Amino acid sequence: MRDGDTLLIDLPASVRDVLGGLAAGGAEAALVGGCVRDLVLGLRPSDWDVATSAPPDEVAGRFPGSTWENPFGTVAVRDPAGGREVEVTTYRVEAGYRDRRRPDAVRWGSSLAEDLGRRDFTINAMAWLPSDLAAGSGRLVDPFGGAADLDSRLLRAVGDPDARIGEDALRLIRAVRFATRFEMRLDPPTEDAIRRNAAAAAGLSGERVRDELLRVLSGAAPPSRALDRMERLGLLAVLFPELAALRGIPQAKRLAGDALDHSLRTADVLPAADPVLRLAGLLHDLGKATTLADGHFIHHEKAGERLAEEVLLRLRSPRAEITRITRLVRHHMFAYSGDWSDAAVRRFVRRVGPDLLADLFALRAADDAASGVVDPRRGGWAELRRRAAAAVADDPLEAAHLALSGDDLVAELGIAPGPEIGRLLAELLEAVLDDPGLNDRGRLLARARELAAGGDQTHHEDGSGAAAPG
Ligand code: ATP
Ligand code: MG
Repeated sequence: MRDGDTLLIDLPASVRDVLGGLAAGGAEAALVGGCVRDLVLGLRPSDWDVATSAPPDEVAGRFPGSTWENPFGTVAVRDPAGGREVEVTTYRVEAGYRDRRRPDAVRWGSSLAEDLGRRDFTINAMAWLPSDLAAGSGRLVDPFGGAADLDSRLLRAVGDPDARIGEDALRLIRAVRFATRFEMRLDPPTEDAIRRNAAAAAGLSGERVRDELLRVLSGAAPPSRALDRMERLGLLAVLFPELAALRGIPQAKRLAGDALDHSLRTADVLPAADPVLRLAGLLHDLGKATTLADGHFIHHEKAGERLAEEVLLRLRSPRAEITRITRLVRHHMFAYSGDWSDAAVRRFVRRVGPDLLADLFALRAADDAASGVVDPRRGGWAELRRRAAAAVADDPLEAAHLALSGDDLVAELGIAPGPEIGRLLAELLEAVLDDPGLNDRGRLLARARELAAGGDQTHHEDGSGAAAPG
């Protein structure tokens, strides 16, 4: 396949209608970017991008219900049949990359060739220009030899690699992502330019880095391939120094390698369908770099939680994602043995939080697999998982599950609403965690009266003591 060749494709109706509508209005319109690359590879594209000579307002006017939100002239055309929307972008040339983050100014280009020339890599700089839409027939526009590079598995910048990276440092990361995804070598000039310019990645906005990282983590290729490559190119130390610091940190694991190898393996074992969980796997041992001094990684999960939060804040991750990952890092070192009492299981669930259990067991399974640990049938995680699920289903685990409320205490004991009520409820919950049979209004009231009178002062610390049989 080469420039000018005819390429027959099986176009979704919505895409055909967009291309046809633009042509009917006298504009030129072509498929561009990733979808053309995928078609040349014989893969089914995940999304279809169209580029056109028509300006954005004209595109928006032609397709009712389309939205035009960003200043880059991309119009999202709705599929009347409810399918994925098609993005239509007016031919453009970008100029002026003041901060290496986003183009300062977008100039509408006049030609498809110009539009392809601003794209990052030759394999992403091909277009398909329809000749007979009904037949799905069109011509490959490939001015930079992208199809040949796909054939020889070579990732190559369009034009001068230093200049292209200078325009937009995100291309540093994208190069690694595409090379890994399509199992390509980096063309030596492109590779040299990446090494030379790696430091420029520090100026990228967190959002853009996060977006690329999540794409790496949701890919079919094991994320370790991309991250190893980033390390070799000098990008890991710039973008994720906390991860790079794990290199050389020794591990006493059955599987060979250092703490970085272990972290990468953990991410690899987790499902691509849940990239955020993979990210938790990648970050779960960050604390090992800073706690090595004590020789035992004491409390590395606490140091790791702080470091993971720093990384995620830098990436401008959404709050819910930060919470999910930092909780996982904090709790990933839990222990279990088959002689745990049911009360110990309930305290474990309460400490971790029922909503985190599925994630935590998945992370631990991956951590074990990445350490060469085999989970025993008896007294192993499967058993704890079963017992924890039973506790969640059947047992009172939080104040809201008590058979009596703060209002009941106010009414029955004559105590004014305030912190004392909170303390009593907490004490009652402690008692019920030990013995769910106590969760009866009458018995709880009697117990509350004792406690209020300063009777039973027994206090159960709900700390890491739950790791011991209880
Ligand atoms: P994917 O299948 O992962 O979405 P893609 O090739 O569609 O891959 P996108 O990030 O969706 O990648 O970008 C679409 C197209 O826009 C690319 O194929 C490329 O031509 C162009 N492009 C995107 N980002 C850049 C960039 N930073 N610099 C230059 N061109 C870019
Ligand atoms: Mg895309």
